[in-house]
Amino acid sequence: MSTSFGFRITSEIAEDGGRLGRTGVITTPHGEIKTPAFIPVGTKATVKSVLPESMNDLGAQAILANAYHLYLQPGHETLDAAGGLSQFMNWQKPTFTDSGGFQVMSLGVGFKKVIAMDAETFHADDVIADKKERLAHVDDDGVTFKSHLDGSMHRFTPEISMQVQHSIGADIMFAFDECTTLHNTRRYQERSLERTRLWAERCLVEHNQLTRDRADKPYQALFGVLQGAQYEDLRRKAAQDLGSMVADGISFDGFGIGGALDKANLGTIVRWVNEELPREKPRHLLGIGEPTDLFVGVENGADTFDCVAPSREARTSAVYTDKGRFNVSGGAYRKDFTTIDETCGCYTCAHYSKAYLNHLFRGKEILAATLATIHNEYYIINLVDRMRQAIDRGDFLEFKKDFLGNYKVNQSA
Ligand SMILES: [Zn+2]
Repeated sequence: MSTSFGFRITSEIAEDGGRLGRTGVITTPHGEIKTPAFIPVGTKATVKSVLPESMNDLGAQAILANAYHLYLQPGHETLDAAGGLSQFMNWQKPTFTDSGGFQVMSLGVGFKKVIAMDAETFHADDVIADKKERLAHVDDDGVTFKSHLDGSMHRFTPEISMQVQHSIGADIMFAFDECTTLHNTRRYQERSLERTRLWAERCLVEHNQLTRDRADKPYQALFGVLQGAQYEDLRRKAAQDLGSMVADGISFDGFGIGGALDKANLGTIVRWVNEELPREKPRHLLGIGEPTDLFVGVENGADTFDCVAPSREARTSAVYTDKGRFNVSGGAYRKDFTTIDETCGCYTCAHYSKAYLNHLFRGKEILAATLATIHNEYYIINLVDRMRQAIDRGDFLEFKKDFLGNYKVNQSA
């Protein structure tokens, strides 16, 4: 088993227009990831309703799990005792964990609307905590939060997030950051960015210590997380600060572009930070997975992506095709014996008709989620694979134009 982590660039989109997209290979102790790549989300060490073997068969190169959820249940010590995330879930390829910061500050406290910011700027930013119980409190040292499972109180600091993620044992981890929203004031964003910068240094120090303490374990890479919301100067500053950061003699292995991402300006934000980041390190765009957004992210130099959308949409019967997304539970498909997408190479499209999926969804059968998730995960993974092949061929921009010309975000059912 290799203990090394690395990234090499294999080709780049032609320089015209300053486009930053590239193809490459990330090397981890559990294997390689050819980039750009879509990384399916298995929040609690499972992609809901689908076997790990099926995820392998449909082309997933890695899985991203969530540190917050695994910390609460079954507990990160259990994953450590099992030999790490990969061993625990019978997934022999690379894994990622996100730091838990986003969940602690949003999902973990119920909804985004219940985040309470620190006392000094509380009133200016209280719009997002109006009339809701405040279940997460951020201070300069960390975050205190209430479990969404049983209401018990917990605390995450940069050090605890590193300890939890080292115990979980994913190949790629993310630094603990404060996740703001687009609604926070500019002043709050500045303060928060400085807090995230200080937390990033503490993450590097703790990570280095844990790497030494756990020298018998496979190497785990650490990515710094860039915040800064919609502000160009803050995004560029975050990329400069974390891109050049050295603490305890080490620097970040890669970077995550996170936080409040205004969809209309997604490409611009990704370009700002990638113009500042060291070219030779991989960049992950957190929480992005819609086809149109993936094109924008790839074009502007993001290497990997994760999102719950393919599986979450699948469970509501929404399926992707090159013409757009539609609901296979719709009445029009009751007697439609063609497949979801005649050109799709997935297991579901090889064996099952829209009429059968329609029947499963209407009957509330568990298999509906499995078959639709297999299709959607295959589709999104394969779409990013097609982007990678197009960059290698030198015709990414033509592929993008053709695809977006045919793709309707919400095809009528
Ligand atoms: Zn399919």
